[in-house]
Amino acid sequence: MSDNLREQFEEYIGSLVLTPDATLQAIQDSAEVNDLPRISVQPLDGYFLQWLARLVNAKKAVEIGTLAGYSAAWIARGLAEGGTLYCVEASEKHARISRENLTASGLGSSVDIQQGAGKDILPKLAAHGPFDFVFIDADKASYPYYLDWAGHNLRPGGLLAAHNAYRGGRVILPEGDDDRAIDAFNRQLAADDRFWPMILPLGDGMALGIRKS
Ligand code: SAH
Ligand code: MG
Repeated sequence: MSDNLREQFEEYIGSLVLTPDATLQAIQDSAEVNDLPRISVQPLDGYFLQWLARLVNAKKAVEIGTLAGYSAAWIARGLAEGGTLYCVEASEKHARISRENLTASGLGSSVDIQQGAGKDILPKLAAHGPFDFVFIDADKASYPYYLDWAGHNLRPGGLLAAHNAYRGGRVILPEGDDDRAIDAFNRQLAADDRFWPMILPLGDGMALGIRKS
């Protein structure tokens, strides 16, 4: 399927399942005003992440890489009653902005934003587990580490999702270290006996894994 046809199908699906949402748009506007990079997930990805959180009835979820809080807002809305999304964000600026945005979105009591690098925060976060859902969208070099952490800290039947599994297509012919890291991650996920692996052609590629029992 040509890329263009794929995009047309995503537009088609989006026209069916997405509705204009001023709260989510405000988070994207804040990212723009604060001059943050435009690397958040797309609306249909966000919708899908929320859909996954609902699928596993997520009460405890983790997001690694939060930026302005766009994907976090989608996921937090899909949590079970009283659930918590722990967000791990390395940048002080991004942590502050996402905290402001998620509070303004009425999601302040559902999210716990922990500022620091994933490799520093996640070992401590493990005490709050096991988790129902883990979404990886931070530094690509650490994806293999995050996958291993998720293998240890997801409940049986819990779900892993990771953004940018395609790297704009460069995962097939890697051009840089980040492309190679994602290729290694995809292969590691496929070979990891703890997961039922899958990669969906949604947006920039969404890698998925069900934690086996
Ligand atoms: N998930 C967000 C986009 C995340 S962009 C969304 O879709 O809305 C990637 C984020 O990862 C950036 O905010 C960056 O600061 C953060 N990041 C980079 N390295 C990190 C690390 N080592 N640990 C945690 N976060 C990191
Ligand atoms: Mg991403």
